[in-house]
Formats: sequence, structure tokens, C-alpha cells
Amino acid sequence: MSTRPNPTLRILSLGAGVQSTTLLLLSAEGRLPKLDAAIFADTGWEPRSVYEHLNRLEREVAEPAGIPIHRVNSGNIRADALNPEARFAQMPLYVRGHGGGQGMLRRACTAEYKVKPIKVKVRELLGYPHPKPVPTDRYVEQWIGISSDESSRAARMSDDVQYMRSQFPLLFLPGGAKPGVGWSRSDCIRFLAASGFQSTPKSACIGCPYTGNARWRKLRDERPDEWADAIKFDEQIRHGNARAIANGTPLEGEAFLHRSRVPLDQAPIDRVTAHEWSSRQTDVFEQVADAETEADQRGCSPWACRGEDEEDDAA
Ligand code: SF4
Repeated sequence: MSTRPNPTLRILSLGAGVQSTTLLLLSAEGRLPKLDAAIFADTGWEPRSVYEHLNRLEREVAEPAGIPIHRVNSGNIRADALNPEARFAQMPLYVRGHGGGQGMLRRACTAEYKVKPIKVKVRELLGYPHPKPVPTDRYVEQWIGISSDESSRAARMSDDVQYMRSQFPLLFLPGGAKPGVGWSRSDCIRFLAASGFQSTPKSACIGCPYTGNARWRKLRDERPDEWADAIKFDEQIRHGNARAIANGTPLEGEAFLHRSRVPLDQAPIDRVTAHEWSSRQTDVFEQVADAETEADQRGCSPWACRGEDEEDDAA
């Protein structure tokens, strides 16, 4: 039995996607314990729809319930990539070497632009900003929006600082369509639709290389300004980030946002992959709720980046 004292604070890691939005609403309604705060880590390059959704959540749900939403950041991922003076944490760009070999840059962006500013804020909320040591009896219970269809993510996660302890409330919620396993992503979508939040968007950088073809198509067809922005960025990072180039260490090859390793405006995004077809078949409700595939609706969570799953679907 744990001898750990009760948490000092209960906070939500708010990615503003389906699962974390569900947790915020359930807490605000009193169906889950009251949160002390929610934290949104902003890379500065989210789609407009995410910021609009966040504003609405704050106005209609969080503020009336007395749950402050803290927006934190470690810079602007897009601007930092193009600024030779800025410190930049690498995005998982697809690379084609001069000799034709293919690879992918190691992802450092989630840790830098999402995890790091959340930890800074948590320390501040606890009253022990860096470098003050946090006493062992002071910690936050951090809610993470992982649903039953991805419960293996929760099993793989381990807390790396003693002042944050992860909890996955969706996995223990009664009332899901499948008894005994908590709420699935589909359960969350049903709940959100019934609560007036049927259009909860995916939270991820506009130009995230983990983006699958369905999301690229949606960007091209429905948000042409954001599509143009991604195309421009794709061109600008062809030889790596600006700081590396300025330091005389340009990429040995060329970098791309799309897995096909061709410029984004020429990439085969109209190709419907096997994964996308299978997602369309397996969840009729999600098809009705939103024409995107399940894979393309998942976003970049600070603590359980769903991006890697999309990589297989991105060709
Ligand atoms: S959405 Fe993609 S690019 Fe943005 S932080 Fe997450 S992994 Fe990095």
C-alpha cells in the first residue's frame, strides 16, 4: 500500500484534443474530482481551430468551474527552426541523404516545447520554482488523457520527476461502451458530441512530420492558408534548421515534412493508405462525427506523443 501523502495539487495536462477535453469537462461537471488547474503547452504552431477550441473551453467550461488554464511555452517551434539565433529542438523530419539513403531526425521537439514548460509551471504552482528542491511530500497528481484503446501507452509511461505523478482517469471511468475497461476514444467523442463539443480538433503542429495523408488533405482542402504555411516551412527546412546552417553544420542531405521525401506540394497525399481504409471500416461513429480517419485525429500529447503511430500511415 502506498504511504504517499495526498497530492498537493491536481492538474490536467490539457492537449486540447479529444481525451483531455473530455477530462476537463468531466471535472467541471463534477463527475470527476475538481481540478486545481489545467496546463496547455503551446508550440506556437497549432492550427487556428485548436486555439479557438481552447478559448471556448476556457470561456464556457474552465472559468465557470473555477479551473484556471495556464498556457505555457518554450518558444515558437516554427520561428525557432528558421532563426539562426534561436535554440531549436529538432522535429522528426524525414531525410534523404546525398547518396540516396533515407532516415528520420530524432524527435526532440515534444520534450522541449511541451514537457519542459509544463514542468516549469508545475514547480511554480507548487511554490518551488527551479532550482529550489521540491520536498518529497509535495507533488501534483497529473491527469493524462489516455483512453482504453491506447491503454498500453499508460503502461509504458513512468514518472521521471518525484513532484509529478501521472494518473489516467479515463481508464477507470464506468459507463463506456465496453464494460470494465474505462472509456475509449469513441466513448469520449460521444460524450463530447452530447456536450456540444463535437468538433474537438486534433492538437499538433501545423507542419508536424507525423501528419498522415488524411490530415494533410484536410489542411489543403479546408485550411489553405495553413497548408500554404506548411509548404513554405517545408521548403525552408530543406537543408536543416537555421542555427545548424549558421554554425556550419548543415544537414547532410535534404529534409522533408512528408514521408515520401518529396516537397510537400508534390507529395502523394491523395493516396489512401491501408491503415486509413481500415480505420474507416472499424468505427462507423467516428466516420459520422468527422470524416477524418482515427489515426489522423490523434494529436501530439506532451506525455504520450501519438505521432509515431501515424508515421506508418503517412506514406
Ligand atoms: S506536433 Fe509534431 S512537430 Fe509538434 S511538438 Fe509534437 S512531434 Fe513535434
